[in-house]
Amino acid sequence: MKALRVKTSREQEFIDITPQVERAVRELGIPEGACLLYVPHTTAGITINENADPAVKEDLLDALVRLVPESLSYKHLEGNAHAHIRSSLLGHSVLVPVEDGKLKLGTWQGVLFGEFDGPRERTVWVIPLPRAPVPD
Ligand code: ZN
Repeated sequence: MKALRVKTSREQEFIDITPQVERAVRELGIPEGACLLYVPHTTAGITINENADPAVKEDLLDALVRLVPESLSYKHLEGNAHAHIRSSLLGHSVLVPVEDGKLKLGTWQGVLFGEFDGPRERTVWVIPLPRAPVPD
């Protein structure tokens, strides 16, 4: 397993972490199989979506902000209930196939880290899942 460090610079943002994940997969030496990307935080998340047009990241964030406004009344006393809910809506893990030592993503796909209560130094665990040998 490898722990990626992701430094966020805004209260909320999506960051394309595909290059870091690709490097980690190379270093872990996963030839075939998959890698599980897991975010061990309660106010951040991870997803896969388009990384060609940066406007897609902005639209994703904008939609989450509209779905879960900060101004609603919440019971959580820390004052960041909106960030917890946005994090749960996005999810905390993605599973990406690996072939020939490389991430097998679609042409326009990238791995996007979602920050909802930053800026902070965050962690993404890259967990190798090599393909099990096929029994004879
Ligand atoms: Zn909280």
